[in-house]
Amino acid sequence: MPTVFVMQRGRVEAYEAPVRLDADGRATRDGWAASIVSFASGPRAPHRWAVVAAPGIAVMVGARGVTAGVSPLAHGEHVFIGGEVEAIFSADAHPLPVVDGAPDAACPVCCEPGSAGRRGLFDCPKCPARACDACWAQFPHGRCATPGCDQPAAFDRPLFTAEPGDFWDGLR
Ligand SMILES: [Zn+2]
Ligand SMILES: [Zn+2]
Repeated sequence: MPTVFVMQRGRVEAYEAPVRLDADGRATRDGWAASIVSFASGPRAPHRWAVVAAPGIAVMVGARGVTAGVSPLAHGEHVFIGGEVEAIFSADAHPLPVVDGAPDAACPVCCEPGSAGRRGLFDCPKCPARACDACWAQFPHGRCATPGCDQPAAFDRPLFTAEPGDFWDGLR
């Protein structure tokens, strides 16, 4: 699940996205200042993430202001809420095991059958890409190989966790 890491008085809090944050950077239902939401432009389109700014609240993604209330969010981007709160958005994820496929279905990438020492087929969490674990392990930079997808999706490593030093204002 995508995660929003928020710096609060020197401590890093982690919230599962989607989440609404108040002006102090705490998860809230009412009186939110910024809302981190997922959307898709069509039923087969990749899931994307965006931050929505409440009216009257200044929200920045990196150095750019959130104009017209909403701005797309990419993995690793920093979100500033009201000039006080800094958050880091992480879309890091492991590839999702395919549960509905035939157990010996061939990998669409390397065409090897499902036996041959493989753990099975896995879907990209963001786009329709599907490949066996051996292929996922070889994709460059630990990211989905679909052009324009860029979903971080590597096996056998811990997911991204923000540390205090990852925050731009963390050492202030
Ligand atoms: Zn494969
Ligand atoms: Zn993908």
